[in-house]
Amino acid sequence: MTIATTNPVNGQVLKTYEPMSDEQIDGAIERTDLAYRQLRGTTIEQRGRWLTTAAEMLEAERDEIARLMTTEMGKTLAAARAEVTKCATACRFYAEHAAEFLADEPADAEAVSATRAFVRYQPIGPVLAVMPWNFPLWQVMRFAAPALMAGNTGLLKHASNVPQTALLLEDLFRRAGFPEGAFTTLLVGSEAVDRILSDPRVRAATLTGSEVAGRSIAQIAGRELKKTVLELGGSDPFVVMPSADVELAAQVATTARCQNNGQSCIAAKRFIVHTDVYDAFAEAFAHRMSALRVGDPMDDDTDVGPLASERGRDEVDAQVRDAVDKGATVLCGGEKPSGDGWFYPPTVVTDLHPGMRMWAEEVFGPVAGLYRAASYDEAIELANGTSFGLGSNAWTRDPQEQQRFATDLEAGAVFINGMTTSYPELPFGGVKNSGYGRELSAHGMHEFCNVKTVWVGEGAATAGAGAHSE
Ligand code: NAP
Repeated sequence: MTIATTNPVNGQVLKTYEPMSDEQIDGAIERTDLAYRQLRGTTIEQRGRWLTTAAEMLEAERDEIARLMTTEMGKTLAAARAEVTKCATACRFYAEHAAEFLADEPADAEAVSATRAFVRYQPIGPVLAVMPWNFPLWQVMRFAAPALMAGNTGLLKHASNVPQTALLLEDLFRRAGFPEGAFTTLLVGSEAVDRILSDPRVRAATLTGSEVAGRSIAQIAGRELKKTVLELGGSDPFVVMPSADVELAAQVATTARCQNNGQSCIAAKRFIVHTDVYDAFAEAFAHRMSALRVGDPMDDDTDVGPLASERGRDEVDAQVRDAVDKGATVLCGGEKPSGDGWFYPPTVVTDLHPGMRMWAEEVFGPVAGLYRAASYDEAIELANGTSFGLGSNAWTRDPQEQQRFATDLEAGAVFINGMTTSYPELPFGGVKNSGYGRELSAHGMHEFCNVKTVWVGEGAATAGAGAHSE
């Protein structure tokens, strides 16, 4: 894949980059390994000051960074600005909470015949981050902020269509004060990942991306015995029950499906509506979806910009065509526009059946699948009837039903009467083919820590009754 900035509004290639040579990659790994030895010796307070400086720089340079992201992958400028602000918030969150998350955790010393026992969280070394283009700043920041605060260093292999945002991130951390090499961008294609992850100096990997990439990285990491966190795709259900505020549900459903031009892993993608409110919801939803303004993402009036790549747009269109050819009904949208740019209209498709691609696959564009459920049990069966398990949404004002959804939905997150989103305070990740491991909160920080047991005794010959030797 070419490493280049290509404007999705018109397909114009603005800047291309030569992939780094093997020697350049080796040099970068060497520098990040040296930086790790330096960084792990710094205090949490020092690293917190650097991360706070990064937050201040993000805020000061917000509009410029936002324009770059919009140019590289087509998200609306408003969404890009919000993404920069969210990254600054995450930097501050980890700068402020790292001391608490990394503090020694006392254990029951008596139970293990010690005078003192505790858990200590320590960094593990350079971590490879393979990242996607859809939230080009945020996806990286939610890995980088906790990793750097814990004393790890980062090697970023970003998606090939956002090279300038990737370079900007390296520059940001350097200017914020982190040691040279603490966060390094590798301009490489996906074929270089094997070489990088096989290097003994690289201790772990995190990937946010597709299932295909997840399987490939997990295979390499398995062979090399390295820890991975995988944040993969999703086809999140959005269930609407009779007690819901249907108008509000339709409004939030529209945002949930079309945020980021429909290219979010946690976008609601399958709308499962109880038969009692199905017609009202379908009408309100299709009305709102077709009212969205599609156009230039730099324009403040635009709701939905282009998809990030021609290949991505063709894939979405092929999934819709497949459904229509097999008997699905299009309530709005559904036609690939002619003309410049990789635009696709907000689309609602219903009468979906097993055997259609849309039934089983993630649709990475502003296309909603609408399903009818006769009961709670049928809604759960449809919601869980997918290989994915990232986010999930349920709309109901019945407290008992809320409890049941929270338990029964097979997903890494359940949002009741709202849309799935991510917060630095809450863990984020999936189950099933949506991946494993967690980002954000203390959980995300601990993924790349050595959770070290420290046992202190008085020098007795054995560790006492109840001890086991392995
Ligand atoms: P992708 O093709 O998997 O690309 C993501 C990253 O992985 C890119 O850096 C890409 O490099 C690299 N990559 C691709 N194939 C690889 C391989 N075989 N081995 C190693 N690296 C590989 O994903 P995408 O289509 O750009 O992004 C959309 C997908 O990401 C969707 O499935 C979406 O749901 C998922 N996603 C998940 C989350 C989450 O948090 N769970 C968040 C956002 C997106 P190149 O660009 O050089 O190919």
